[in-house]
Amino acid sequence: MSDGVEKVTIIGSGPAGWTAAIYAARANLDPVVYEGQPKRVGAVNEIPGGQLMFTTEVENYPGFAKGIDGPEMMMQFRAQAQRFDVRIVTRDIARVDFSSRPLQLWDSADTPIQSHAAIVATGARANWLGLENEQRLAQSGGGVSACAICDGALPIFREKEVAVVGGGDAAIEEATYLAKFASKVYLIHRRDELRASKAMQQRAFDNEKIEILWDTIVVDVLGQERLEALRLKDVRTGAERDMPVSGLFMAIGHTPTTDFVKGQLDLDEKGYIKLSDPARTTTNVAGVFAAGDVADATYRQAVTAAGMGCKAAIDAERWLAAQGIE
Ligand code: NAP
Repeated sequence: MSDGVEKVTIIGSGPAGWTAAIYAARANLDPVVYEGQPKRVGAVNEIPGGQLMFTTEVENYPGFAKGIDGPEMMMQFRAQAQRFDVRIVTRDIARVDFSSRPLQLWDSADTPIQSHAAIVATGARANWLGLENEQRLAQSGGGVSACAICDGALPIFREKEVAVVGGGDAAIEEATYLAKFASKVYLIHRRDELRASKAMQQRAFDNEKIEILWDTIVVDVLGQERLEALRLKDVRTGAERDMPVSGLFMAIGHTPTTDFVKGQLDLDEKGYIKLSDPARTTTNVAGVFAAGDVADATYRQAVTAAGMGCKAAIDAERWLAAQGIE
């Protein structure tokens, strides 16, 4: 910081935010990270660290040959940033004014911050049904997840019957992925036709392990330590029944955390930050960069988010240098 103005303020504490922090710190930009504050979102008690805080075992992040717990991995990311003296504030950024120079930001205690550059890495939350037992078993690693690609290959789901909720492309992709390991995959959809593209639909119809339960919703998730069954309701008849499964995967969309930049940054129709150059991390505002799931509805992986965080730090460093701020 110089003259009370930060060189770069990083908002968010998932793989993108911490990677940006590590790179920015090593480039002598003395970054500050607003890691967010614990809060209740719907039925979820959310702690800083992003979606990996809800993942039990991460087996697909290179460098961890034996896998690593999601929360433990985020502790490692954070500790690595602290090793380079990154300053960490356990608050949200509540609002911003990116039309002024330096940029103006306010945290959740309404403390004003001035910054030459900013990296937005606030991620996207998986949507959940909002059932109390769904959240309890998701947080305890009891067989409920919002990411089949992350968790579906775990031994607890192998050769077991599992279910996916949703009818979009992601639901089909996840069901198809799960069908490689599970003995059977129920695709539970609330309507009588899928939202997914025709090509994706065909994939589901062609897969012998996938059975689609039409016009069906999940009204409760049963099991104490581990998921045992779902209480399903037929929305046409109102009839309810319990169906035993070992895994439940939500694929009902994501919501990017961009409310605080609405009207300041260009967003797409779903609220994701639009990159002005898709090969980089630039936004419509010079000096403001976006990294990770908040700007990427396509890949949503820890490793892709970390890669974008690295790019954002390098983009910020180059932009600051071009402004004569080093
Ligand atoms: P999406 O297209 O918005 O689909 C969400 C699905 O969840 C819909 O079928 C919706 O039902 C259902 N849903 C929403 N809220 C629900 C609730 N409360 N209870 C039960 N069901 C609920 O989201 P997505 O599948 O995550 O895809 C997001 C974007 O990524 C899309 O543009 C998609 O094409 C793209 N994508 C592409 C691929 C691919 O091509 N390989 C893979 C993944 C994602 P309704 O249909 O009744 O609204």
